Amino acid sequence: MKLQILGTAAAEGWPAMFCTCAWCKEARRRGGKNIRTRSGAIIDDQLMIDFSPDAYFHEMKFGLDYTNVHTVLVSHDHEDHLFAADLGNRYPGYGVLDDTVPEALTVYGNDRVGLQINHGTQGFGGPGGPVQFRRVVPFVPTKVEGGYTFTALTALHDRSQQCYLYLVEDAHGKRMLYGHDTGLFVPETMAALRGVRLDLAMLDCTMGAYRDGGNHMGIEDCFEMKARLERNGSIDASTRMVLTHFSHNGHMLHDELEAAARPKGFDVAYDGVIYEI
Ligand SMILES: [Zn+2]
Ligand SMILES: [Zn+2]
Ligand SMILES: [Zn+2]
Repeated sequence: MKLQILGTAAAEGWPAMFCTCAWCKEARRRGGKNIRTRSGAIIDDQLMIDFSPDAYFHEMKFGLDYTNVHTVLVSHDHEDHLFAADLGNRYPGYGVLDDTVPEALTVYGNDRVGLQINHGTQGFGGPGGPVQFRRVVPFVPTKVEGGYTFTALTALHDRSQQCYLYLVEDAHGKRMLYGHDTGLFVPETMAALRGVRLDLAMLDCTMGAYRDGGNHMGIEDCFEMKARLERNGSIDASTRMVLTHFSHNGHMLHDELEAAARPKGFDVAYDGVIYEI
């Protein structure tokens, strides 16, 4: 499985779009891995997780071709994870698709994601045809094109909607966990992951230097989460542990995150990083 993490910032991006804080100023000064766009990932160039306002930029920047994408798994409808209007570009008149392209792009998510897909594609002919929506059933493995099976796990995040984490397994049995946005994992999700060994796990490190655990996580929460996942039989020494979804309000730039995370066995994601697992 090839996993590319496309964007690694929380909602505002980093530097945040309108911000004079010291951590945005420093990110602008240092540049490089400190420049972070809104969240998303792509597996084997064909299965996307989240479709952020920066998805088009990611397609250009990383030389991707979204006509190969058949499935988008959406974690929740926050604006940094779903920019549904851009999916209208898959409709006739905006995109010209030959018969090498999957007939439909199927978007999975909760009811609120469905509403956003309806709204976003309305002006292009609405959902159905080139963009299909399917409501996720949590904890039920679902097979999709390309030999992948995904399972939506429940997150501890926005209480006004059911937010999901995604466990994705490929045809060779390789497994990755898209583990944000969330606080410390809920018991149902820990139970679903019990004894399920992950090859890679991405965790929510929004709050950086500060603890949270109830909506997002900080780096200390991620260390705690790693210990819990070890005890749960979900990870071992060979699991790639990856921190992502960073906010300027967490007050840790890339180098500071790496210095703290490396000794604890974590990688710190940056935009465009690729993992082969
Ligand atoms: Zn987010
Ligand atoms: Zn800032
Ligand atoms: Zn969110």
